[in-house]
Amino acid sequence: MNQIYNFNAGPSALPKTALERAQSELINFQKTGMSVMEISHRSKPYEEVHYQAIQLLKELLQIPDQYEVLFLQGGASLQFTMLAMNLLEEEKVGNYLLTGSWSEKAYKEASLIGKTKIVASSKEEGYRSIPTIPSFATNEKDAYFHITSNNTIYGTQYQQFPTITHAPLIADMSSDILSKPIDITKFGLIYAGAQKNLGPSGVTVVIIKKDILQKDVSKIPTILQYQTHIQASSLYNTPPTFSIYMLNQVLTWVKECGGTSSIAQRNEEKAQIIYEVIDESDGFYLGHATNDSRSLMNITFNLQTEELNKQFLQVAEEQGFIGLQGHRSVGGCRASIYNAVPLEACIALRDLMIRFKKEARTSTSL
Ligand SMILES: *Cc1c(COP(=O)(O)O)cnc(C)c1O
Repeated sequence: MNQIYNFNAGPSALPKTALERAQSELINFQKTGMSVMEISHRSKPYEEVHYQAIQLLKELLQIPDQYEVLFLQGGASLQFTMLAMNLLEEEKVGNYLLTGSWSEKAYKEASLIGKTKIVASSKEEGYRSIPTIPSFATNEKDAYFHITSNNTIYGTQYQQFPTITHAPLIADMSSDILSKPIDITKFGLIYAGAQKNLGPSGVTVVIIKKDILQKDVSKIPTILQYQTHIQASSLYNTPPTFSIYMLNQVLTWVKECGGTSSIAQRNEEKAQIIYEVIDESDGFYLGHATNDSRSLMNITFNLQTEELNKQFLQVAEEQGFIGLQGHRSVGGCRASIYNAVPLEACIALRDLMIRFKKEARTSTSL
């Protein structure tokens, strides 16, 4: 098999160790003679996986006892709606900070449920930065304050979370959860589709502070109430057992790597390598995000012309670099370097970028 470098935006690279362990017990899980996919979600071997994954996540993110960890389905996209259904009381307002397409969607879905408000937005300048709101005092009319911690498509990321008083801070962390230590106590609710930094698609992690659930939700469907899943430990109905099994493998790997602080250090080093090429390229590569809002997970950049972008992506593909095409809404290039992308892949990308620039300059005297 040829060497490939996986920079897919999501679903994306998984740790090789996690895949190999899954492979080794794929058809005989824990001496059951069956795959983990073939056994009851109420069986002991599965339950062990399920509760271990919850425990590991609590440990790695230092989640306090007042919080519950849920494994749900429907992706981060269902959470756009579900959080509004469960938290947006009539007469109250859901506040949104718009920093990209995902926060726009979250805002739009909540607007179908109740009253919403855009507190700030960086749309006018192409979502190149995160508006600075160090603190925000809500009042009794505010149900919550919602942010998107990392903007997967535009390549921006909060360097510091705003301090919200009086109402819970809610974050879509789909593309940077577990990439660094965070102070969970700043948040009322965090949600993340697993397919970027946590595992395969199919499971969505929700971390929720139980006391924020004040709204009367008796009229909404049972399966859409957070309380239902809290009471059933995410076993109300059949959970995506294989996705949770893989999530557990990924969490085990993160722990073996030394936890979130070691992972964060590695992530900084990885991103630094690529941003450095962009910054030292005399404008040959143009970063999309402003320097103070740069994401360590998704690095977005353009070459000077559409033609050069196309050439670069083609050369990259020929050399085994996968997934570098920017999102269709912004174009250009994007390198997604989530936790599982190894340092070597980032070094290889840096070398490719340097090589390509040199060759383009000699052939076209740019
Ligand atoms: C990928 C992504 C989503 C969408 O996730 P689904 O699980 O496909 O619904 C939402 N928000 C962010 C920040 C994402 O990166």
